[in-house]
Amino acid sequence: MSTLEQALKRSNKLFVDGIFIEKLTSLVKIVTDSKNSHRVEDLVDYYTKGLSNILADLGIQTDIVDNPIKSSPPFLIGSRMESPEFKTILIYGHGDTVPLQVEEWHEGISPSELKIIDDKIYGRGVADNKGQHLINLLALHSVLKTRKKLGFNLKIIFEMGEEIGSPGLFELCQEYKDYFKSDVLIASDGPRVAIDVPTIFLGSRGALNFELEVKYRVGAHHSGNWGGVLKDPGIRLSHALSTIADKNGKILIDNWKPTSLTADIKERLNLLPAIISEVLDIDENWGEPGLSPNEKLFGWNSFSILALKSGDIDVPVNAIQPSAKALCQLRFVVGTKTNEVISSLRDHLDKHDFSDVKIISENAINFEASRTDLNNIWLQKVESILEEFYGDKIHVIPNLAGSLPNNCFTDILEIPTIWIPHSYKECSQHAPNEHLPIDLLKDSLLLMTNLYWNLGVSDHNH
Ligand SMILES: [Zn+2]
Repeated sequence: MSTLEQALKRSNKLFVDGIFIEKLTSLVKIVTDSKNSHRVEDLVDYYTKGLSNILADLGIQTDIVDNPIKSSPPFLIGSRMESPEFKTILIYGHGDTVPLQVEEWHEGISPSELKIIDDKIYGRGVADNKGQHLINLLALHSVLKTRKKLGFNLKIIFEMGEEIGSPGLFELCQEYKDYFKSDVLIASDGPRVAIDVPTIFLGSRGALNFELEVKYRVGAHHSGNWGGVLKDPGIRLSHALSTIADKNGKILIDNWKPTSLTADIKERLNLLPAIISEVLDIDENWGEPGLSPNEKLFGWNSFSILALKSGDIDVPVNAIQPSAKALCQLRFVVGTKTNEVISSLRDHLDKHDFSDVKIISENAINFEASRTDLNNIWLQKVESILEEFYGDKIHVIPNLAGSLPNNCFTDILEIPTIWIPHSYKECSQHAPNEHLPIDLLKDSLLLMTNLYWNLGVSDHNH
């Protein structure tokens, strides 16, 4: 009789025999930098040369479909139907990565060649997201080979444009809504709260970028001849910014604050470790007063100035500059009136006598915020399976502090979203020296094998 033990043994063997590393090596070798890929064909290699064997082994019927948005990378979709009576799980992953930054890695490491140093595996995409979805696919494989079926149906979506904002994913989900019909999304991306404790998050924060510009005249004017009688855009802009957030980072526009930090969300957040990072000291008095660091990070909005410019600081001249510009960002949780962010900012600036500060925004949200409810039955089910396997309480957060195209699944496909990250905060995702510890990959593979096993229907109880 096939057992969970056998499936776990099979997964463990993937590490012992080096098969996991071999597969990850081949995925990392396919360069999939979506920002700098000028040919869509380069990205499609990840489907045809990277994932196709693994997906065929899983008996998934796949299709590469054109992106509804012209000249954006195609999607890989797929399906494995075992029984109309079974539940259907949707899995998602992205094969693209941020740029390689070849020159900036530790000596002797090339981002497209997997390298193991001190029990850590280095390579671009190891954490974000190749290693993470490989774990899930191989865990499914162990269950399938042991049980001879999964005990649930499977739908898959892979994309090659997540790092450039998932162009077309929203439209794809609309177009293929019937095809993707599922009971739940279970996917993996982002970091765990703590490296050694499994984490579930239920959605993501959103992000809205916009520019503020003060522009008075053409060309700079000598500060000796004109200083004191010409308005200085840098001074005006910095005062305008100071009305948006105070000197301790607290947001000063009431309509920018979320209404979603409810008692049950607070309760969940207060179960998390109080220390946000062992490596980086956070600034206790920064942000919204009265909130814990976890509440600020996962339950509240934050305003940032991503870039600031007036004149050329490398080649300064004694002159009143003609203009000043700031690139700003609001990160927000659900329960924020996102379609009023820009109009409330306009009202706020006008009220504070800054009608000369122009807001440049395509009014497009870069990422929507979304999350699945804490009372969702799938959360209860997955959480209890993970806890039983782990042997203790796991970490559950309402959403990732960062952003993901989660709203495509919650809002378009209308399914609950359960994210189980297999990375950790210090993985250097989006930076040189991206890596994951081998033990974290191995533990995650066993965790997911156990999860899929327990979500599936076995012969004797069907
Ligand atoms: Zn990323």
